[in-house]
Amino acid sequence: MTLQTSVAAEHASGAAYPVSSMALIVHKYGGTSMGSTERIRNVAKRVAKWARAGHQLVVVPSAMSGETNRLLGLAKELAPAKSSDATNRELDMLAATGEQASSALLAIALQAEGMGSVSYAGWQVPILTNSAYTKARIQSIDDQRIRADLAAGKVVIVTGFQGIDGEGHITTLGRGGSDTSAVAVAAAMKADECLIYTDVDGVYTTDPRVVPEARRLHTVSFEEMLEMASMGSKVLQIRSVEFAGKYKVPLRVLSSFTPWDIDINEEARSGTLITFEEDEKMEQAVVSGIAFNRDEAKISVVGVPDKPGIAYQILGAVAEANIEVDMIIQNISKDGKTDFSFTVNRNDFARALDLLKDKVAPALGAKEVIGDTKICKVSIVGIGMRSHVGIASKMFRALSEEGINIQMISTSEIKTSVVIDEKYMELAVRALHKAFDLDQPAA
Ligand code: ADP
Ligand code: ASP
Ligand code: MG
Repeated sequence: MTLQTSVAAEHASGAAYPVSSMALIVHKYGGTSMGSTERIRNVAKRVAKWARAGHQLVVVPSAMSGETNRLLGLAKELAPAKSSDATNRELDMLAATGEQASSALLAIALQAEGMGSVSYAGWQVPILTNSAYTKARIQSIDDQRIRADLAAGKVVIVTGFQGIDGEGHITTLGRGGSDTSAVAVAAAMKADECLIYTDVDGVYTTDPRVVPEARRLHTVSFEEMLEMASMGSKVLQIRSVEFAGKYKVPLRVLSSFTPWDIDINEEARSGTLITFEEDEKMEQAVVSGIAFNRDEAKISVVGVPDKPGIAYQILGAVAEANIEVDMIIQNISKDGKTDFSFTVNRNDFARALDLLKDKVAPALGAKEVIGDTKICKVSIVGIGMRSHVGIASKMFRALSEEGINIQMISTSEIKTSVVIDEKYMELAVRALHKAFDLDQPAA
């Protein structure tokens, strides 16, 4: 079925708890959760528990932790230069093996537990994607094979992170893409629940590895989760949240490190539920979370003539090179000249800088092009920001009290982001976490 036609209206009201019997459930296990044979055995025991409780289980595993990095590292040793489409194709061919191995190991572990199980690579399902190697988008998922196996009483394992394009080439969905595979499978199958098992026990006010005082959120609205993911919280890949919103997939983030044999209803209620109803959040804090991102770099085109078409000439050339731009700022002009700055992903930085230095700046008569990779972006997110004033200024005050200089600012209805020097990132996140009372238990 194409995902475009699989809108699951019955999901709109969210999942019922305790989980109804004979539900169709998708479990996703991240790399750390699949990180050793011992952990895979634990995953198998947990999955078998759910299946024995009468549910139909589709499991989407990530590669064992470190494996994707290891594989891509080997490729880099052989081809450190800039990427080409041909090389990207092979990177996908390579990286997809990580999930193929972990999926087969999980099937073997389930069989050893006495639970019938079969694993499929993306191309076997098939999960059809476009041809954008290393960042492909899912277009459709054929659920027939999965349904037949479920009907035969098997647990079905589908590799995360990968698919196949229209010409039969293996593709991958971008780092962290197994989340997206899981939610897309859940959407295509109209699953009752998609449970994302990871190495933390839910979505926190900020990354608990950076701020130990961070608190787990019992619920987080879909819109907030979307902003947090897009601003850098890697607990869910952004596309998985987009899918969940579009198809109203009941989505929960929870820990794979609880004992596998805990009560199933207790487990089903743990972690963080992504909600689609805003009023559930009405009583909660104005700012729900803080996200940060070290993956961007800043480029400034200095001393460009301030005349119509400048932004288009600079950013048009960047867009044509298929480079995404995030924050943009143009300074006030002085003596008819202005400075134009924007951020790109660090992976695209060298390419963007070369392009601007070699082609765009000379054509515009710009003075120089300056690059800075030592920046980071810190964002506050909360749907309460819609109805409260002064939130951004409170953010700026907290940063100024720490002596942190703000280089760029961007806002949306429910988010304010700043670009600052990378070395102040943790300080900024901690200061903001405190300033917005996120260390305090919710009222
Ligand atoms: P997995 O391998 O299970 O997909 P990831 O490493 O991709 O796990 O994502 C989980 C990690 O996300 C956590 O270990 C945590 O460090 C990080 N993280 C970042 N922001 C948050 C947040 N707001 N809440 C919870 N975890 C977060
Ligand atoms: N294994 C892939 C990665 O490391 C996908 C994932 O874990 O979600 O990015
Ligand atoms: Mg992940």
